[in-house]
Amino acid sequence: MHEKSSIIGRLGDKGYRLTPQRLMILAAIEGSADHISAEEIYAQVAAKYPHVNISTVYRTLELLKRLGMVFEIDLGEGRIRYHAESSGHHHHLVCQGCNRVVYIDEATLSSLRNILLRDYAFAAELRHVGIFGLCNDCRKKSGGKGNARR
Ligand SMILES: [Zn+2]
Ligand SMILES: [Zn+2]
Repeated sequence: MHEKSSIIGRLGDKGYRLTPQRLMILAAIEGSADHISAEEIYAQVAAKYPHVNISTVYRTLELLKRLGMVFEIDLGEGRIRYHAESSGHHHHLVCQGCNRVVYIDEATLSSLRNILLRDYAFAAELRHVGIFGLCNDCRKKSGGKGNARR
């Protein structure tokens, strides 16, 4: 609840109008225990504001992304999902065989970040990254060759 007031406060500080729809969209993202899709956000908002257009949801998500308040992640199959910045401090392993998504610690990629900075002088934005591959079960099923093709 404290996080919600801070994200709304930041939006207000930057001079963005806090329409009821925007507040609903923020609340839907922050209230979801897991990643939430634009369609799920839209369903929640439309339950209260039936006249809301899904393009309003997309536009608001774009705005929140630009402001760094929301992270998006492609979890495969074109399913873009969203996280509030406050709960986005992790990465994901995404299995391309069974679509399983595993949370991994943010620190897992910090050595990669250090290598990119040292060897390429590149400051990588490694926040909420999805890494695609095969989980243990799917590796066994595919004969351990790493070939996901069916
Ligand atoms: Zn995530
Ligand atoms: Zn799998």
